[in-house]
Amino acid sequence: MKAVQYREIGKGPEVVEVDTPEPGPGQIRLKVTAAGLCHSDWFVMGLPAEQYTYGLPLTLGHEGAGVVDKLGEGVEGIELGGSYAIYGPWGCGVCHACAQGKENYCPDAADLGITPPGLGAPGAMAEYVIVDDKRHLVPLGDLDPVEVVSLTDAGLTPYHAIVSAKEHLHAGAVAVVIGVGGLGHVGVQIIRAVSGATVIAVDVSEEKLELAKEVGAHHVVASDEHAVERIRELTGGRGADAVFDFAGVQPTIDIARQVVAVDGDIQIVGIGGGILATGFFSTPFGASVRAPYWGSRSELMEVLDLARNGSIGVHVERYSIDEAPEAYARLHEGTVRGRAVVAP
Ligand code: NAD
Ligand code: ZN
Repeated sequence: MKAVQYREIGKGPEVVEVDTPEPGPGQIRLKVTAAGLCHSDWFVMGLPAEQYTYGLPLTLGHEGAGVVDKLGEGVEGIELGGSYAIYGPWGCGVCHACAQGKENYCPDAADLGITPPGLGAPGAMAEYVIVDDKRHLVPLGDLDPVEVVSLTDAGLTPYHAIVSAKEHLHAGAVAVVIGVGGLGHVGVQIIRAVSGATVIAVDVSEEKLELAKEVGAHHVVASDEHAVERIRELTGGRGADAVFDFAGVQPTIDIARQVVAVDGDIQIVGIGGGILATGFFSTPFGASVRAPYWGSRSELMEVLDLARNGSIGVHVERYSIDEAPEAYARLHEGTVRGRAVVAP
């Protein structure tokens, strides 16, 4: 089968021919219908050899969907031919966090060598992918896999951040969304769908700000030296009740710190490596700061339900497997509008 792999440190993704995998006991093989490209893939491919822990070659694709094509020994209750999304942050399945469906916060996964598909285990950017357990499949039903596959990360991750900031998103509140790329453009829609908050979107790119308006931002602000002042003006000087930073670089974290309101909340989702000093004389009284990771199994079901009832949708750029390296190059340049998705 064809697969998109990261094979050599410092070299980009490549399309290669590999053996089609066989499902082991308890596992399920999906024929991939869609796989999304995430900026985290570039984070991984940008790591120097001494910090790289994902194994080589690495089949990319931590946003995946497919139809069940072969069941491993002992798998029951899953229909051949059924269409599913893959829940990616695999945990041990038995600890307290996993029992709540919060496998994204499983404390034992790393020690047990359990890694998400595309971030250790072979990912979905291939013709076939192995899923380790049926609990990591969420039925898609009639949803178009290409249209919704990115909700497994670009939807789930903002949803998890937004839901955990929900007490700050009362009617009349102001939410700032920094970085309106794959995650951010879904984040804007989720805030609109689950709250009465006013949304201010911030980005360096004029095109991304256009997209932000299209998907429901009330105001857009260029991410420059005037951004803090503009946001302060738009909030009547009070600042933002919740700030979602989908870039996480130092300049955006500095904006977040300067625009968060007293008793507000900052969620740093982007892994751009910026640091936010928190405490008296740094952040306002009562302000909370969190760096959330991905989301829970039930949250993935909820985010797919938001798509099912038409509340949210991903702006998709569609590519074939052979075009994946070109799509990754566009993601790197910052010219993808919404999310790039490979449909084998
Ligand atoms: P993306 O490239 O699609 O979007 C990033 C957006 O940020 C772009 O629109 C870009 O123009 C904008 N941006 C960059 N610098 C900016 C600045 N200084 N000010 C304002 N906007 C700026 O990336 P994505 O796939 O949406 O991922 C976003 C980030 O979230 C990445 O760092 C990714 O690794 C991370 N991520 C984190 C998690 C998690 O669990 N915490 C999950 C998925 C992705
Ligand atoms: Zn991701």
